Amino acid sequence: MTQVWYFPCMTFWIDTHCHLDAPEFAPDLAVVRARATANQVLHCVLPAVAVANFDAVRRLAHANAYSYALGIHPVCVAQANDSDLASLDAHLTQHHADPRLLAVGEIGLDYFVPEMKVGALRERQEYFYREQLKLARKHELPVILHVRRSADRLLKGLHDIGGCGIAHAFNGSASQAQAFVALGFKLGFGGALTYERALQLRRLATTLPLESIVLETDAPDMPPHWLYVSAALRATGMAQGRNEPGELSRIGAVLAALRGITSDELAGATTHNAIAALPRLRALLPAQC
Ligand SMILES: [Zn+2]
Repeated sequence: MTQVWYFPCMTFWIDTHCHLDAPEFAPDLAVVRARATANQVLHCVLPAVAVANFDAVRRLAHANAYSYALGIHPVCVAQANDSDLASLDAHLTQHHADPRLLAVGEIGLDYFVPEMKVGALRERQEYFYREQLKLARKHELPVILHVRRSADRLLKGLHDIGGCGIAHAFNGSASQAQAFVALGFKLGFGGALTYERALQLRRLATTLPLESIVLETDAPDMPPHWLYVSAALRATGMAQGRNEPGELSRIGAVLAALRGITSDELAGATTHNAIAALPRLRALLPAQC
């Protein structure tokens, strides 16, 4: 009988961005977590989106041996008060020694929603983004950025204030990608690259240096193509497929095939990259990694 060696770090995946506190996961979170583990998704980073879910992501991260980030998401800025920035500062101070607190996030700018890219809401997004970059610098933590038609403005803030980390769900141009990489950022890719028609995104994900890529599901959103329910079917009452961290290994396999490398190689490289972007992650992973 042939001896089969098992190397625990060869094929495991880090989901650097998932919202496990979303209500979609309330009914079966334990099953979702077990499925992630069964699919070699060993660790998940849970970003907050508003002060109201700071405690939820921290508790979930601790209960599941995952990690979390604290921040105010650009689409939550309209409902946020100025005092929420002080509250974020206080939480970052209070939990700074918590090894599971990895970053400030999810923060950024969203210019996809038309009413958010003009007037007072645009200014308010910008204000929250820049103030949170300053908090990340103050607390010496990386950032997890929400980038939606906003790469150039995000880069301007980074040049003015500083910051490093992950540009999540990246879908900008090759030159914008290069600009983030030049600042030391890793770019997050997920379910969107599983669609054959996503030509530009696939080109980017296959041509970027391997050391600049991290993987993420953004669950419960961004379903890969095998979970996607079309608008026509949704009109008949069928729900959109729920994405979950356990899908990451299959998403990773798609990217590995596109890049012409093995899943093991991609898993190893992206785990290494995730640690580089979020240094506190290292202490939370098996020692041999
Ligand atoms: Zn997110």
